[in-house]
Amino acid sequence: MSGLLDGNLAVVTGGASGIGEAIAKGYAKEGAHIVILDNNLEGAAAVVKEILDEGGEAWSFKLDVTNRNQCRELAGQVAEKIGQTSILVNNAGINRRNAFTADADDVTQDWDDIIGINLSGVFNVTHAFVDQLRATKGRIVNIGSIQSFLHVRTPNSPAYTTSKHGVLGFTKALAAELGKDGVRVNAIGPGLIETPLNENARANNPELIQTFMDHTPLGRTGKPEDIVGPAIFLASDMSAYVSGGIIMADGGYRTV
Ligand code: NAP
Repeated sequence: MSGLLDGNLAVVTGGASGIGEAIAKGYAKEGAHIVILDNNLEGAAAVVKEILDEGGEAWSFKLDVTNRNQCRELAGQVAEKIGQTSILVNNAGINRRNAFTADADDVTQDWDDIIGINLSGVFNVTHAFVDQLRATKGRIVNIGSIQSFLHVRTPNSPAYTTSKHGVLGFTKALAAELGKDGVRVNAIGPGLIETPLNENARANNPELIQTFMDHTPLGRTGKPEDIVGPAIFLASDMSAYVSGGIIMADGGYRTV
């Protein structure tokens, strides 16, 4: 196999499913060796098997990104057993929709879980791998959202909006700090992508989906594969002078 990512070791969090799975497979096709870190080890192992069956190289490890010590231990294991990570995709994430004024217990739990995984998880994994990324002049790709910018039309998700605004802020802060080490840091902002994350909304909340579609000029929901091209671009030398930015892959959502 040869491609745009030859010679790279890419770590993808949340690579057992949805967008992370598509990115892991897309990177493998471009020649990167893949490490999937996910709390769903069975799903991660299945993706690894598919990559191996296609002639790629891949490993999976169980990781809860909220566990800072586990992140550090795993980063050490990856360096020792596999090699130095040169691409990190911070993709693991969750969403729940409860209004801030809804049941206090629900909202508090949402805040702790969503901020813990979507934002502190990005910090934990990046901090654990930053030495490897500096050593390899690596690239970090964070998965943001339309909600890195907007809250209109996406009601009842204050914690998610906050987490994804935070991911964009963290992207800019790290790009500023790590540029001198040759590390580039960017984000992708997916629109509504058909994954298990929003299976319930797609099945039970047609009004919400219609609202998204009314504001999506390309007129369709996205597939996980729609995120792969931007992810390859940001991880490869094609984007050698791109840092601190976000590529929106949202069907044009923010234009109408
Ligand atoms: P997904 O299909 O649910 O995949 C997320 C993966 O992350 C799952 O394998 C999940 O495992 C794992 N994960 C969750 N919590 C974790 C933790 N604490 N530690 C390690 N792994 C964890 O979701 P997706 O739609 O692909 O979402 C991927 C990213 O894209 C997220 O950051 C999401 O916010 C973002 N995004 C998605 C959309 C969309 O429309 N789908 C739009 C914009 C942004 P379990 O299943 O075991 O929890």
